[in-house]
Amino acid sequence: MRTLRLGMSGTDVMEIQAMLKKLGYNPGPIDGVFGPQMQQAVIQFQRNYGLTPDGVIGPATYSAMERYLLGYDVYTIRRGDSFYSIARRYYTNLTLLLTANPGLNPNNLQIGQQIIVPYGFNVVDTNISYTYEIMQRDIRGLKARYPFLETGTAGRSVVGRELSYIRLGTGPNQVFYNGSHHSLEWITTPLLMKFIEDFSRAYALGVRLSRGYDPRNIWNRSSIYIIPMVNPDGVDLVLNGLSPDNPNYQDLIRWNNGSTDFSTVWQANNHGVDLNHNYNAAWQLSKDAEAAYGITGPGPTRYSGPAPESEPESRAVANFTRAHNFRLVIAYHSQGQVIYWNFMDMAPPEGRRIGEQFSRASGYALDQTTGIASYAGYKDWFIQDYRRPGYTIEVGLGRNPLPISQFNQIYNDNLEVLLLASII
Ligand SMILES: [Zn+2]
Repeated sequence: MRTLRLGMSGTDVMEIQAMLKKLGYNPGPIDGVFGPQMQQAVIQFQRNYGLTPDGVIGPATYSAMERYLLGYDVYTIRRGDSFYSIARRYYTNLTLLLTANPGLNPNNLQIGQQIIVPYGFNVVDTNISYTYEIMQRDIRGLKARYPFLETGTAGRSVVGRELSYIRLGTGPNQVFYNGSHHSLEWITTPLLMKFIEDFSRAYALGVRLSRGYDPRNIWNRSSIYIIPMVNPDGVDLVLNGLSPDNPNYQDLIRWNNGSTDFSTVWQANNHGVDLNHNYNAAWQLSKDAEAAYGITGPGPTRYSGPAPESEPESRAVANFTRAHNFRLVIAYHSQGQVIYWNFMDMAPPEGRRIGEQFSRASGYALDQTTGIASYAGYKDWFIQDYRRPGYTIEVGLGRNPLPISQFNQIYNDNLEVLLLASII
């Protein structure tokens, strides 16, 4: 964590702005710029926590803030505490407090015992640039608040970032959702992360979601596997820019046509390979089509790589798929408000029927891909190798990267699809 002060900007500033706002401070607009209003909010925070009120977020202030970024605190039981009094002090729900501490007897608290206390607000922010670091911290926070979640790693990116997965449910019907194959399409990551949080909370509380879907019923019937960010290196290039210690620093500038600005053009991974053109499904056709698009090698988009599954990210996702028995998969992309359901007429008959139901649930159009986008994508490979329903869903409308202001609309459009896909 770098020290943050007036005049600085970045995704880390934005995350803290969102957190201060959740706590009731007024940091000004959530824009990633550390302005005078944010400085005043930080000074107020520091006063409230007995810290030197200098308006600078150094190690001590960050340490006081980190629990709010994680969404939980570790509390040591003192004389006179009750589960009820702790829940009230933290403005949290008694059931969620019990959920975070399985095996603990609330009627027999031991002085000095440490418990997890979830805060009464959501972990996953949907009003910020959603980076890999934020996702990893949110997964940590969700796992602490909802210990029944299974989390793990499907592999590592070129730079070594974890390809984290989360599993919802324990049932035999396995489905798989993934997001952010393409870095400019990172809004699909908070879409899946918010789904994980909302589903977990509803499961813990025993309440229904959306149009009557029962998370406890789904939990027993199905296992929903989710990799929210397939391409963390690409997302980092888009949101945080090129780091001087990137192992491909010089190459990346060359592949990006001499520019150090990746924020509006870069879809590929850290090797300049378009991961959704790197699967073994008519890969050679994808390769042959490159010339027509002026693709001669690694670059921001559409380069298929030297061979199918040449990249650690696509290989990890394919291996993850081979290691399971997915009845249905969805790869989330942006944009277009459209659902692609077929690949070279290999989709099973129910592929279109289920796609029509997704279309009705989301209001998105059902369509088939044409041209270079038709080949070597994840859903193409899944349909080809498994002959089971596989979908690419393009969320939102506009120019990538979509503004985060579209998030609520996108989430509302897709929530029922995410639920329906797990039981259909
Ligand atoms: Zn895409």
